[in-house]
Amino acid sequence: MQQQLRQQSFNLTGCSLSELQIIAEQLGEKPYRARQIFRWIYQKKASSIDAMTDLSLAFRQKLSAGGYYVGALKILQEQLSAIDATRKYLFELADGNTIESVLLTEDARATLCFSTQAGCAMGCTFCATGQSGFVRNLNAGEMVGQALGVMRSTDQRLTNAVAMGQGEPLANYDETLKALRIFNAPDGFAIGARHLTLSTCGLVEGIRRLAEEPEQFGLAVSLHSAIDVKRAQLMPKAAKYNLAVLQAACKDYTNKTGRRITLEYTLIAGENDQEADLRALIQFCRGWLCHVNLIP
Ligand code: SF4
Repeated sequence: MQQQLRQQSFNLTGCSLSELQIIAEQLGEKPYRARQIFRWIYQKKASSIDAMTDLSLAFRQKLSAGGYYVGALKILQEQLSAIDATRKYLFELADGNTIESVLLTEDARATLCFSTQAGCAMGCTFCATGQSGFVRNLNAGEMVGQALGVMRSTDQRLTNAVAMGQGEPLANYDETLKALRIFNAPDGFAIGARHLTLSTCGLVEGIRRLAEEPEQFGLAVSLHSAIDVKRAQLMPKAAKYNLAVLQAACKDYTNKTGRRITLEYTLIAGENDQEADLRALIQFCRGWLCHVNLIP
């Protein structure tokens, strides 16, 4: 019975405006009611349908009777850094899996680094998540749920967000884009598209697909070496695309969108920080719109 009830319930957190319009219409309400629900969930951070006090009592009752609810992620751990204003969060998902998010605060900026998958299949050798393997994709509700959890716990508005936590966002493309659109929506988190970034280990099909999207979302590519054999050692799955193929996709992306790509390069002593590595990096970047974020 418990299981039956669970199957009939439907989490509104993560719904797009158009999905909420369909739900409102199915329940015999005007579509504009959807915008009210959307604002309640993402702007006012309502934690229940009952809190949506400008909806009629009858509509709220219909939503609850239909199994709709406002889901929230449980914070298992919140850790404040001793040296800066970084807060790390460990969230529990409804199925018991856990994911991490990080809030970085600097002056007026509050940037959320959120996860797009539980675990990761890419197996990068320097990454603990990559070593523990892939569990499952997150849905958009679980991505925006991380933002809601952080905002509720700090009472702080987010100014930026980056899909750079656990997981490879381009391997979970549709749900990641759906979440980014909620982050971006004026009635959602209202974060400008240029302040929303997706970070990939370099999945070429996804980069090409992202270039076709109308939004101005930022793109970061984890490079970590501009020498094919070394990159294959550090990022064995990502290196399925060699550097020439990756560079071609990046160049096409910048030509199509006019947007600059950030190349992430973590310096690993003795591995990718020698003169030959630097020369290869300079060569890789030459002649196209990118900048390099060297991470010591
Ligand atoms: S793609 Fe990102 S999360 Fe996945 S293994 Fe590589 S560094 Fe870790």
